[in-house]
Amino acid sequence: MFIDSHCHIDFPELSDRLPDILQKMQANEVSHALCVSVTMPEFPRVLALAEQHPNIYASVGVHPDYEDTEEPGVDDLVRIAEHPRIVAIGETGLDYYRLTGDLEWQRERFRTHIRASRASRKPLIIHTRAAAEDTLRLMKEEKAGTADGGVAGVMHCFTESLQFAEAAMAMGFYISFSGIVTFKNAKELQAVARAVPLERMLIETDSPYLAPVPMRGKTNEPGFVRHVAEFLADLKGVPLATVAEATTHNFRTLFSVH
Ligand SMILES: [Zn+2]
Ligand SMILES: [Zn+2]
Repeated sequence: MFIDSHCHIDFPELSDRLPDILQKMQANEVSHALCVSVTMPEFPRVLALAEQHPNIYASVGVHPDYEDTEEPGVDDLVRIAEHPRIVAIGETGLDYYRLTGDLEWQRERFRTHIRASRASRKPLIIHTRAAAEDTLRLMKEEKAGTADGGVAGVMHCFTESLQFAEAAMAMGFYISFSGIVTFKNAKELQAVARAVPLERMLIETDSPYLAPVPMRGKTNEPGFVRHVAEFLADLKGVPLATVAEATTHNFRTLFSVH
């Protein structure tokens, strides 16, 4: 069985065809999916999905790409994260690619999420784009990760260097690969995936975006995470079942679900 560690099935591209999505998960042996929150106003829809479906988990947090949106405090996040279906804080992080200018508000929001993760003992889901140095700096300053008494987490939709991956792994973090790793031009990322040990690896779709080969160009959905696993198995020269077992075990360990 496979687990999609990061999807957005509450988004309008997918929410209308939920029965079909759940059926396709089953057909592809995708047992569970984590539906990741991006804003507070949209969070209730994410939680409702997890409350209605035993194989969907939820997170709570505000994505760095949403500038003028409700800003939760540490206490708000901690209180909401007490809900048993919420397994993580995020997605949070830094994105200097989509937005430019004074992004101090993004860094403040990221710090709030790291503090909430430490206080609630729920792992972080971190998004980082064109902000590698600051992402690692803030993680260290706010004592994210297991070394400093914090909680581990996942670097989601990983596209950074091996050096970055190693720094994150040293803090107890997992590295999650999406459909991007299957793209023909993703040679550097494929080299990173070859070097990241299976014991540290998660798989995801980030659906509705970034459908993996051979579904590229289609609307992505959790069932397609199987193609990411197949690609990684080929890349690492191991049986598909090995990737399935490792990534499922890692998901259960990180998010404390059994
Ligand atoms: Zn993201
Ligand atoms: Zn996402």
